[in-house]
Amino acid sequence: GTAARPPRTDIAARRPVVMSQALSLAYDEPLHIVRGAGAYLYDASGREYLDLVNNVAHVGHCHPRVVEAGARQMAQLNTNTRYLHGSVIDYARRLAATLPDPLHVCFFVNSGSEANDLALRLAAAHTGRDEVIVLDHAYHGNLRSQIALSPYKFNGRGGEGRPASTRVAALPTEAGALESLTAQIEEPAAFYAESVQGCGGQIVYPPGYLSSAFAAVREAGGVCVADEVQVGFGRVGEHFWGFELDGAVPDIVTLGKPIGNGHPLGAVVTTPEIAASFVTGMEYFNTFGGNPVSAEIGLAVLDVIADERLQANALAMGARLVDGLRAFDFADVRGRGLFLGVQLDSREEAKRIKEALKARGVLISTDGPLDDVLKIKPPLVLSAADCDRCLEALWDAR
Ligand code: PMP
Repeated sequence: GTAARPPRTDIAARRPVVMSQALSLAYDEPLHIVRGAGAYLYDASGREYLDLVNNVAHVGHCHPRVVEAGARQMAQLNTNTRYLHGSVIDYARRLAATLPDPLHVCFFVNSGSEANDLALRLAAAHTGRDEVIVLDHAYHGNLRSQIALSPYKFNGRGGEGRPASTRVAALPTEAGALESLTAQIEEPAAFYAESVQGCGGQIVYPPGYLSSAFAAVREAGGVCVADEVQVGFGRVGEHFWGFELDGAVPDIVTLGKPIGNGHPLGAVVTTPEIAASFVTGMEYFNTFGGNPVSAEIGLAVLDVIADERLQANALAMGARLVDGLRAFDFADVRGRGLFLGVQLDSREEAKRIKEALKARGVLISTDGPLDDVLKIKPPLVLSAADCDRCLEALWDAR
């Protein structure tokens, strides 16, 4: 038979021996989560936690329709995309239908990092340039090419500073931010921006910023990349995509996290012109990207978002949370839909509240340049009772 599994009680002690310590665990006393359902997680002792962290489990942890779609296709066929297969074509069409014209050529990859790396290759192929403008505090992925585009990583946090080909524009927190961007424009290959910034502390840009930024970058011959890895797929409530909040249309959109509800899937969607520039004679082959299982899971996620009206729920539940949060005297409450940030006075306060919420069965994360922002980005299946539970726990924890 198979070798016995090591005793589960040893997990915490074994982990730093068999896994890299470059990855930290959440919480002073790490959680051992063994099951998820909807907006809830359950630990090994059966304790229930309301999950306000996991923007990946977009339609709810272990959604039965997503699980069924993956299991059904795994039992039928999983192979690479060098064969004709209906699922990936259906999926590409369905995904493109959610995006404005002329964004309808899809590439399927396995993560947000890979999507952003491919976007960089597309931009370089299209423009013949390599300079990229990013926003301060941005995070675009764990690949070397993406660390280079992530001030969140290369400034501090063990980073080695800004690479020469990367230019950093100020985080647009107020009107006038556009000048900081235009000052960085010379011969850009691309401008990368999340449509609402996550790591920077859930920053909603001033109205008109993205549209004007895109226009300025295009004027200089660059392409505009909207990183929707965190905010896409209805999370912002009013719209399906974050960039639609500003009426802006990017040249390349990168997708990840929620796209597969936890299944490793990512995508890049671009225009036919940019896609054509990438047909250089060097093939783009991605072993797992767009395989039938991923495509079926991606389709199921889109179906559930539509059938369960999750975008509308994000709008309603986001409003309910914001109403409640405004009754506290926090320095700032911001965001859109179920992508919210609560600005606190210090990192210590944020950490204390995060731990106190956990003790009350509510999981929340902290972020921002000073790690003093509570981030709320739950599965979109959050209910009104869940919102009230969050607010009550916060009232006690604060
Ligand atoms: N872009 C953004 C905005 C992200 O938040 C992340 C992940 N936190 C990524 C890209 C990279 O995604 P992944 O970890 O799936 O590679």
